[in-house]
Amino acid sequence: MVAAVRVLVASNNPKKLRELEQVLADLGIGGIELVSLRDVTPYPEPVEDGLTFEDNALIKARAGAAKTGLACVADDSGLSVTALNGMPGVLSARWSGSHGDDEANNRLLLAQMSDIALRDAAFVSCCALVTPTGDEFTATGRWEGTLLRSPRGENGFGYDPLFEPADAPGRSSAELSPEEKNRRSHRGAALRELAPHLARLTADL
Ligand code: IMP
Repeated sequence: MVAAVRVLVASNNPKKLRELEQVLADLGIGGIELVSLRDVTPYPEPVEDGLTFEDNALIKARAGAAKTGLACVADDSGLSVTALNGMPGVLSARWSGSHGDDEANNRLLLAQMSDIALRDAAFVSCCALVTPTGDEFTATGRWEGTLLRSPRGENGFGYDPLFEPADAPGRSSAELSPEEKNRRSHRGAALRELAPHLARLTADL
């Protein structure tokens, strides 16, 4: 008898696996064992050259499913600023040129937005599930807010110090506790929408 369906979470960030674990637990979905990239035979990560969050999430989930034979979940996310036509978007992690330099990314964004009154922005996450038989599902979550004019707060990562969520007025998302952020955030919303598709994988257990 199979005890659980193994699902690969194709991310190098262990927090994402734990976040999905929590979402499944909250929704009472059992029978799924989440495994990380560290638990499978290493494979070259695919180039994320999609033009949308959905493209990139699917690129990562397809690669994970093809290389391991497991169902695979992957996500892509970023900040979408209305006055910048949705950018930084898929370029969020490398907006200032070097990948993952949060401080430089934030400095550049603040400079670009210095004389712009329209401050609307949203964090967006697309989560994709690709099964070993090639079925594909995606779900997108948005967290609406506005851009601050200087950084605030020590929690979180990326653009959190510059983002004031509409549902937490007066605070930046870097001033929310991890629990407060998970409850509201784009990624949580996308994962909750994807969860029923994961639950269906366990139908044959
Ligand atoms: P990734 O898809 O998790 O790799 O995120 C891509 C980039 O989007 C990150 O490097 C951050 O710059 C930005 N980003 C995505 N989600 C968040 C968030 O919740 N807070 C702050 N920045 C984020």
